[in-house]
Amino acid sequence: MKREFASRDELIAYVGEQFPEAAARDSSVPPTPGGRKAAQKVLQQVNPGKYASTRNFLNGAVTRLSPYLRYGVLSLAEVRDVVLEKVQHQEDAVKLINELGWRDYWQRLYAELGNGIWQDQEPYKTGYTAKDYSETMPQDVIEGTTGLVCIDSISRELRETGYLHNHQRMWTAAYLVHWRKVKWQAGARWFLEHLLDGDPASNNLSWQWVASTFSHKAYFFNRENVERYTKSVYCRDCPLYGQCDFEGTYEYLEGKLFPKGESVDRTGGSKSWERQGQKVDRTGGSKSWERPQKGRKN
Ligand SMILES: Cc1cc2nc3c(=O)[nH]c(=O)nc-3n(C[C@H](O)[C@H](O)[C@H](O)COP(=O)(O)OP(=O)(O)OC[C@H]3O[C@@H](n4cnc5c(N)ncnc54)[C@H](O)[C@@H]3O)c2cc1C
Repeated sequence: MKREFASRDELIAYVGEQFPEAAARDSSVPPTPGGRKAAQKVLQQVNPGKYASTRNFLNGAVTRLSPYLRYGVLSLAEVRDVVLEKVQHQEDAVKLINELGWRDYWQRLYAELGNGIWQDQEPYKTGYTAKDYSETMPQDVIEGTTGLVCIDSISRELRETGYLHNHQRMWTAAYLVHWRKVKWQAGARWFLEHLLDGDPASNNLSWQWVASTFSHKAYFFNRENVERYTKSVYCRDCPLYGQCDFEGTYEYLEGKLFPKGESVDRTGGSKSWERQGQKVDRTGGSKSWERPQKGRKN
């Protein structure tokens, strides 16, 4: 195959010619450039301090390194070393290196689980069993026609760019599993079809974490959470504002989504997050994984 191109457009045209069936199915080309030079450029732009303080926001200083890490264009160790060189004090690198650690952890679990990564690691803790969830993706979510501006925008962004911020992934996964009662496997397959960083380890285990088949409680969110971390970019244009599916306190939504959840063991009996004999604190400094506390006001 040809390897040298005068421009990205020439490369895109060439790949389209080589894979006409794929090009006919979906002709959109994500803006992320491939290759080692592009990866090094993205790596040089990483700002660990800014990352730590803004990473949960949609417009925060996230790195966008995931496609390069996924395909081995960059290694985790290489990224770690560059990050450490960039900071004056090691603690300024902790947040980012922790996240790299999650990628490493999922990969190690994948090596142990193999295809078992597609199976529920534990029962759902939602008061429902696996058979209560649908096997198929709802067409309106795939097409971005639910009427919810946040979900529809995220669906479009996924198809057009192949990238989603971590919060967008969490909200979409929670919406599908807990509001639409779709099996996490169906959503995980949909993500893998489009994500440039699509990776069975990080993807499936994160879906299972949201679903609660790999954590001791389900992850869900409310409208205030979306509004806060997006600076209202979706909500301000949403005709459903004030009456959308995500309105209400966490207590209210928990009762609505998991009405049979009373008997659920929420004391953390799950083994999912134990690493080397220690319970892993998913909330440890990483606010995007934070679960609402009982009694929290919204
Ligand atoms: C439902 C769901 C599906 C996901 N699917 C994938 C996937 O297919 N592939 C994938 O690489 N990540 C996945 N993630 C994890 C995370 O969302 C992405 O790694 C991250 O958003 C990639 O963007 P970034 O490079 O700008 O991340 P940054 O926030 O800049 O993080 C830097 C790097 O750390 C690693 N990292 C960050 N957060 C996580 C995390 N929560 N878990 C594991 N590694 C992390 C990634 O390698 C990332 O490139 C998923 C998360 C969820 C909730």
